Amino acid sequence: MLLSITTTHTPATDLGHLLHKHPDRVQRFTQSFGVATVFYPEASDERCIATLMLEIDPVRMARSRSRTSPDFSLAQYVNDRSYAASSLLAVALADVFSTARSGRCTSRQELADSAIPLQLRLPVLPCRGGPEIARRVFEPLGWQVDAEPIALDDAFPEWGQSRYVHLQLTGTIRLADALSQLHVLLPVLDESKHYWQGPDEVDKLLRSGGGWLADHPDRDLITHRYLGRHGALTRVALARLAELDDATEEALEPADDEEALQPQERRVPLNAQRHDAVLDALEAAGAASVIDLGCGPGQFLQRLVGTPAFTRIAGSDVSTRSLQYAARRLRLDRMSERQTARVTLFQGALTYEDPRFAGYDAAVLMEVIEHVDPSRLPALERVVFGAATPGTVVVTTPNRDYNVRYESLRGLRHPDHRFEWDRAEFAAWTAAVATAYGYAVQLRGVGDADPEFGAPTQLAVFTRV
Ligand code: SAH
Repeated sequence: MLLSITTTHTPATDLGHLLHKHPDRVQRFTQSFGVATVFYPEASDERCIATLMLEIDPVRMARSRSRTSPDFSLAQYVNDRSYAASSLLAVALADVFSTARSGRCTSRQELADSAIPLQLRLPVLPCRGGPEIARRVFEPLGWQVDAEPIALDDAFPEWGQSRYVHLQLTGTIRLADALSQLHVLLPVLDESKHYWQGPDEVDKLLRSGGGWLADHPDRDLITHRYLGRHGALTRVALARLAELDDATEEALEPADDEEALQPQERRVPLNAQRHDAVLDALEAAGAASVIDLGCGPGQFLQRLVGTPAFTRIAGSDVSTRSLQYAARRLRLDRMSERQTARVTLFQGALTYEDPRFAGYDAAVLMEVIEHVDPSRLPALERVVFGAATPGTVVVTTPNRDYNVRYESLRGLRHPDHRFEWDRAEFAAWTAAVATAYGYAVQLRGVGDADPEFGAPTQLAVFTRV
């Protein structure tokens, strides 16, 4: 089975730097189920093609399996694993291109951070649901998708199509994102799971899906299929994704793939309720200029931009990648000059004083403080409340009391959270900050409140006195 990655970014041979594999060499990597080989059929300044070829050793696979779960069926010897781009290819890709997938590249970091013209080709891809599903999962990520069904047998056209497609993806995408997307989506399209799903599969999914899965219109389908029939893991993943975007409580109910395929009727998602609540607070404060601190990929900025009452809007984040997503979401490049003058995006860290944070009527810290180490939180407080001093500061953060309602969630809602506060802890923090920097503070809950544990999100409005 093959995966080929082509770029026409010049000099195209830079692909070798990004993949950490030299174009002049053929390199082999032993996997538990076979051998992966990386080579370059073409490597010129104009065009460079890297190919990952995976040769499966079916006997070895069958043997390694029999120790833990003996399987005497013929299917373990007669199957498509050697010929199709299955989830095994995803495993090999993650291993062989692990550094590229992390987005690190000491010699070409700027290129590794940039979207470049890419074409990915998978000659034989098992695709449950046919070409339509391939389009549904890849198109929202910015790919142009060519998915050709492969006939069951050319000699007998009346037999119809097989469940395999020839897939070609074309787009301008950061290489690390492209690899992470394949890593998640190959097993999603592939019908048969080959590996055991441990609890860390949820972390793997959230890590590989970082930056694109939470926003994906078919997020539920992808999560259900990726985690297989493990209802409990799927629920944990959706609960955590809900914190990033807009999974509904219904989505946390076990559903099988067929159900997930149907468009679901949705209640107002938590994330949308959070946006509404913060918008209400900003409007009530009469703010005309707003800065969204830790704006992430810009969902809330989009709401701000859509509200004419806000005449000056800024978004800032420590992650340049998130800012790229935000710029794309807001279509900054296609905005009129007047609109462009209204919106500013800039990279900045909230733990360092920065004059660009000042001069706004209101500042928003939506789901940000819990990403900051508790030891660095006083620095953030000084920067926002002591130096930037907006008239209004709206802060939201998870309510840990509510976590018991996310069935089978162990630990925190997101791997990057440094803490999650219960209602008493948040109340104590807000009171201390208000006193120290001369603000009055009001607290409320956001989302459908539990009578005992309160609302899923806590919100504080600080008003300078
Ligand atoms: N406000 C957005 C994103 C929340 S995720 C939303 O509600 O959807 C938290 C964001 O905070 C991430 O984008 C992260 O990059 C950013 N962040 C974390 N620590 C930061 C810091 N020290 N300075 C600036 N941004 C930070």
